[in-house]
Amino acid sequence: MTELFEKSALPLSGIAQSGAANYPGLDSWRDLPISQQPTWQDKAVFDASVQELSMVPPLVFAGEVDVLRARLADAAQGKAFLLQGGDCAETFDAATADKISSRVKTILQMAVVLTYGAAMPVIKMGRMAGQFAKPRSSNDETRDGVTLPAYRGDIVNGYEFTPESRGHDAARMLRAYHTSASTLNLIRAFTQGGFADLRLVHQWNKGFTENPAHARYESLARDIDRAIKFMDSCGADFEALKRVEFFASHEALLLDYERALTRIDSRTGLPYDTSAHFLWIGERTRELDHAHVDFLSKVRNPIGVKLGPSTTGDDALRLIDKLDPEREPGRLTFITRMGAGNIREKLPALVEKVTASGAQVLWVTDPMHGNTVTSPNGYKTRNFDDVIDEVRGFFEVHQALGTVPGGLHVEMTGDDVAECLGGADPVDQEAFLDRYESVCDPRLNHMQSLEMAFLVAGALSKN
Ligand code: PEP
Ligand code: MN
Repeated sequence: MTELFEKSALPLSGIAQSGAANYPGLDSWRDLPISQQPTWQDKAVFDASVQELSMVPPLVFAGEVDVLRARLADAAQGKAFLLQGGDCAETFDAATADKISSRVKTILQMAVVLTYGAAMPVIKMGRMAGQFAKPRSSNDETRDGVTLPAYRGDIVNGYEFTPESRGHDAARMLRAYHTSASTLNLIRAFTQGGFADLRLVHQWNKGFTENPAHARYESLARDIDRAIKFMDSCGADFEALKRVEFFASHEALLLDYERALTRIDSRTGLPYDTSAHFLWIGERTRELDHAHVDFLSKVRNPIGVKLGPSTTGDDALRLIDKLDPEREPGRLTFITRMGAGNIREKLPALVEKVTASGAQVLWVTDPMHGNTVTSPNGYKTRNFDDVIDEVRGFFEVHQALGTVPGGLHVEMTGDDVAECLGGADPVDQEAFLDRYESVCDPRLNHMQSLEMAFLVAGALSKN
């Protein structure tokens, strides 16, 4: 099969082909320590699933991945800004047209706020179409005296608290692939089919609840409308407004899945992980000599690494050497998630050390994961004020050092959920009882997401 694909050498622009079977080094991760992997219950099901995944069409094209790398290189230099958002954990059941479209609309709205406010191109990226695998701090979960395996994301097991659902079922990897494909199909239709046209900027606000952020967005949309009408009467060509680039990303946690979807690009002969455009390594799996860093060092996709408050400057330099030995613009993104109380103290040393080494990475803030707390009534939550404070701290640090605050990574949804506390129309813990839907970490709701975008736009325009 491999040969057949390689011989046919389709003249398609960078469609990554099947057949990464024996690419040198692609499997060296298998000999290294690896954490956060499932213990599959059935070896035959696992083998069949991996075999099938190694034959299915790629979800993304290598050429698109290269475009993203170039865009991220711009962001690293302060010529663009990355907006990356979506669920903590996508689920198969929530991959519905309504939920996907409201999340995409919300990201488009946030991007408009940022583009207009900061007069800068915004790279739009979803934690979407593949964000199905979760690292967990404990292997088990106990409820009312019953202990079962922890939920590890829909690609591994079900959220429902029963022994059947919590078993690790490798056939779920195939369902994750197909759900990613249908999600991506809808995203591509939305962003390429005319819906994302900037002239529809008001439409994207329709159907969302009226609130302070909603009104502020409407007023900005009116400004944009006026500008568009003005340009229209000047005879401007609006072709460029019709389509929007939108990239897919997820945490590359389940390496058997990522490896099975890795293909050799017919143009360059190099391996691309075709499960998403951008992949990141989580805070719990970023050990230098372990499997995740090794595997991702071998694929051509742009790579992110989450950096928590324990990261040292030397850790950062060693990650750069391993993941970006050629110092290639756009290749490596550091997503810092320090916590509001740490960022001003911990981030400067990291940024200074990396900058002094001459390396140029893209610095992105994840203001969510360092600020997780438990509400008095027992829900995993985040205070919107802490989230905002970490974003402010991120901008302050980069401003003081003269470096580039290049992006925002958030857990958010387009739905009117109650998962994070506070905001302009404040969510309180009582609202969790009715409107807490996340199966993992708490997300910003539609209003909180827009509010965040206005805040970041303000910080960027000051920069
Ligand atoms: C996440 O992004 O959902 C996550 C688990 O993040 P981190 O690795 O930063 O804890
Ligand atoms: Mn999370």
